[in-house]
Amino acid sequence: MRKREFLLPIDRCPICGAKGTFRVRGRVDNIPYFGEIMETSASCTSCKFKHADVMSLGERPPARHEFQITSEEDLKVRVVKSSTGTIKLPELGVTVEPGPASQGYVSNVEGVLDRVKAAIKLAIEKVDAPRRRRGEVKIKKLDEVYVGKRRVRLILMDPFGHSTIVDKRAKKRELTKRELASLRGGPSR
Ligand SMILES: [Zn+2]
Repeated sequence: MRKREFLLPIDRCPICGAKGTFRVRGRVDNIPYFGEIMETSASCTSCKFKHADVMSLGERPPARHEFQITSEEDLKVRVVKSSTGTIKLPELGVTVEPGPASQGYVSNVEGVLDRVKAAIKLAIEKVDAPRRRRGEVKIKKLDEVYVGKRRVRLILMDPFGHSTIVDKRAKKRELTKRELASLRGGPSR
């Protein structure tokens, strides 16, 4: 598997304007059943700005990937999640949509679950008791998924096709027009 890395020194930080403090690191990697992707991470040592993302280097249609998590072994399945990807765990009533500060990453199913768990914890910090209770129930169910005691589907939808679940068992299809229109960060918005 070939990997190419590069470093782009940019003269001035586009956020704070400081000189010689902004760097963009990139890495090109080849993903089985998908093709070449580029991971980027930008950071500024002056204003502490940080952003990471991943994108497909090939032209890809808007896509929906679905993977059934049934065992601890499934936690190791690789996942490419771009900043434009939406994550859904329908059996748990969980949807994580891309926001303005959305980041992209290459991880695995376990890494996705960790991020979902952290997002739920953050969301219930300052809400009323009934909503906090509902969030805690979701976290409890999520903990059962980690140990293979609860089967859920992981759905990853990306209007730009930059995201994927790297496993032969994952179902892949193009997004319907209706799904595309409903996604935050999609081309229609
Ligand atoms: Zn800066």
